[in-house]
Amino acid sequence: MPRPIHATIHTEALRHNLLRARRSMPDARAWAVVKANAYGHGIERVFEGLRGADGFALLDLAEAERIRALGWRGPILLLEGVFEPRDLETCSRLGLAHAVHCDAQIDWLAAHKTQTPHHVFLKMNSGMNRLGFTPARYRAAWARLNALPQVDEIGLMTHFSDADGPRGIAHQREAFEAATRDLPGERCVANSAAILRHAGDAGLRSDWVRPGIVLYGSAADYPAHSAADWGLQPTMTLATRIIGMQDLLPGATVGYGSRFRAEAPLRIGVAACGYADGYPRLCDTGTPVLVNGVRTRILGRVSMDMLTVDLTPVPDAGLGAEVTLWGRASAASGPAGRGALLSIDEVAHAAGTVGYELMCALAQRVPVSVE
Ligand SMILES: *Cc1c(COP(=O)(O)O)cnc(C)c1O
Repeated sequence: MPRPIHATIHTEALRHNLLRARRSMPDARAWAVVKANAYGHGIERVFEGLRGADGFALLDLAEAERIRALGWRGPILLLEGVFEPRDLETCSRLGLAHAVHCDAQIDWLAAHKTQTPHHVFLKMNSGMNRLGFTPARYRAAWARLNALPQVDEIGLMTHFSDADGPRGIAHQREAFEAATRDLPGERCVANSAAILRHAGDAGLRSDWVRPGIVLYGSAADYPAHSAADWGLQPTMTLATRIIGMQDLLPGATVGYGSRFRAEAPLRIGVAACGYADGYPRLCDTGTPVLVNGVRTRILGRVSMDMLTVDLTPVPDAGLGAEVTLWGRASAASGPAGRGALLSIDEVAHAAGTVGYELMCALAQRVPVSVE
C-alpha cells in the first residue's frame, strides 16, 4: 500500500469561486490565471472547473500548449510576454495574446514575420516597479506598437502592488488613468484582491480582470478577511492518515529538537505528512489540523515524512484516522467532523507565508485526484 497521503482537487469549488469572482465585477471578462501549473493544482485538473472563464492567463509557453491540447480554442494570455524572439512563432501558431512590457519585445515584434497579427497587452509600471513601461514612456511604446503591421489589437494593462493591503490601489489607478485617458483599447487591471476589495471604487475600469488566488479558494488578504468571509470554497484538500500513536507521560518531549514537552499525560498521533510533501516545516506547535474532521493542533517540529498531532479533542481517533492538513474533511469522517473545513490560509499564516506558496509547493510525490 502506498503512503496514505493524498491531494484532491475540487472541481465544483473551482466553478463556485470563478462565479464568485465574476459576481464582484459582472461586466468584466475574466482571465483565469493558471500560471505555476494552476497554482500547484495541475492545469489539466482545473480545466473543467475553470472552462467557464473567458480566457486563461499564464507565463509559460509549454503551459499554453497544454491548454490548447485540452481543446481550448478561446483566448490565452502570456502575462510576461515572450522571453525571446522565436517565442513569437509559438504565439502565432497557438494564437496567444501576450503582454509587452519592454522595448526589446517591441523590437522582436517588428522583426517577426507572421500572417496573423497579434493581440497584445501593453504593460504599464504604475508603481509596482516590476515589469512595464513607466507612465512617461507608455505613450511612445503604444505609438510604436500601433504602427506595426504585426499587431492588431492593443490592450492596456497594469498590476497592483497593494490591492490586498492598507495602501490600496488609488495611487496606481490614478497614474494608469492619467496616462491612458485618451488611448483606445481594453483595460486589464484587477487581480484577485482588487476584484474582491476594490470592485466598487470610483474610477476603477477593468474590461478584463485577472483572478488568480481567488479561484483557488484562498483569501488574498488573510487575515484581514478569511476565505469564508469572501464566500470562497477550498479547491485543494491535502489529507493523510494516522500511522502511529504514543501515550506521553508528563515531561516527555516530541520530535526533533524536543520542541514540545507534555505537561500532563497526552495522547498523540503520528500523521504521514512532512515537509517533503509540501507541508511547511515552519509550522510549529499550535498550527491547526483536522483529525476525523475535528479541529486540533500539531505538536513539535514537522519532519520530512511525518508530523505529530494532539489527539485530546478526538479521543476515539486511532490508527488510520483521517488527518486533513488543509481543505475539506471527507464525508467518511466521524459525525462530529464530516465536511469540516480548514483553510490553507490558516496553515500558511502559521508558517509566516501565504496560501499561494503552500498550494504551489505541493510536492511531486503526493498523488492527486480530481473530484
Ligand atoms: C499572478 C498574476 C495575477 C493573479 O494574481 P492573484 O493575486 O493570484 O489574483 C494577475 N496578474 C498578473 C500580472 C499576475 O502575474
